[in-house]
Amino acid sequence: MRMKLQELVRMNVWNMKAYSSARDEFKGEASVFLDANENPLNDKYNRYPDPLQWALKEKISKIKNIEPGKIFLGNGSDEPIDLVIRIFCEPRIDNIVAIDPTYGMYRVCADVNDVEYRKVLLDDNFGLDAQKLLEKTDENTKLVFLCSPNNPTGNLLNRREIEKVLHAFRGIVAIDEAYIDFAQEETWLDSLDKYSNLIVLQTFSKAWGLAAVRLGMAFASAEIIGLFNRIKYPYNVNILTQNCVNGELDKPELRKQWIQTLLKGRDYLTDELAKLPFVERIYPTDSNFILVKVTDANGLYRKLADKGVIVRNRNTVSLCAGCLRITVGADDENRMLIETLQAMCISEK
Ligand SMILES: *Cc1c(COP(=O)(O)O)cnc(C)c1O
Repeated sequence: MRMKLQELVRMNVWNMKAYSSARDEFKGEASVFLDANENPLNDKYNRYPDPLQWALKEKISKIKNIEPGKIFLGNGSDEPIDLVIRIFCEPRIDNIVAIDPTYGMYRVCADVNDVEYRKVLLDDNFGLDAQKLLEKTDENTKLVFLCSPNNPTGNLLNRREIEKVLHAFRGIVAIDEAYIDFAQEETWLDSLDKYSNLIVLQTFSKAWGLAAVRLGMAFASAEIIGLFNRIKYPYNVNILTQNCVNGELDKPELRKQWIQTLLKGRDYLTDELAKLPFVERIYPTDSNFILVKVTDANGLYRKLADKGVIVRNRNTVSLCAGCLRITVGADDENRMLIETLQAMCISEK
């Protein structure tokens, strides 16, 4: 049986009131604003931004087909990852269960908040076993993190297994879909109404090409989003970010083109990497990166770095011994990588 939201939320969060800003207390049109101690003389940036970013949420709402009240926007996905832990997990009492290997920020945020973090090893093909994950949970497990497509492995997690977790787990399930735009499968957004314990995380940092702008999204029931809004910093998304993303959202065609280009680049890299003698295995990917097992990951990483080509060495990560994670770059960058690797083969002969 799923727990009631009140039973899942930390008592202090459930009972507290959000900070009420000047912008919260008066909304609407007026000719003189003397309520927020702002400086009236610097015209463009002197006013506090909308604390709940409604204009932006309206636009995102249309694209994602999710009501604005079920959307939270934060300083990257990293903000909602931290907030979800602070809403649901009592330090030193509650725990989090997550897949292993996966994105490092879940662990970091759990550590910062002094919340136990339990890892469940994926299988040899980086697949999720729902039963095994559920066995790691207990009455103090408030939160499960799933990342699909997963980082650093690149693959989507099996839908049926995720569904089993959503059905059987009594607490909150956060599915991180940072790479969903590169995958063939559907997002979990359409299941929000079906599962009141589901939180879907997405970001503008990857397919949208806006990593520098820092905007992440969380989608969940209006009740859960209300809790995010209760504990967030009042003006967590600045006006530069709000305006920039607002403009970028008007270019959906460009983004589609980018994704097509990157998927082609991914195919090119996959084909060319497969021909190299020191490449032992190329893992299937649903993302804009490829996990590759090579004969000497540390050595290859260093040799590439010496040539000015930087990839991510994942050699010490669970199940990823010998692996490098390679982001799909622009066409000329991909070619540079492959040519550099090919030159290494020749020089070794
Ligand atoms: C890159 C990435 C993010 C994005 O984080 P932002 O803070 O939005 O830039 C989130 N989750 C995963 C798994 C990622 O790989």
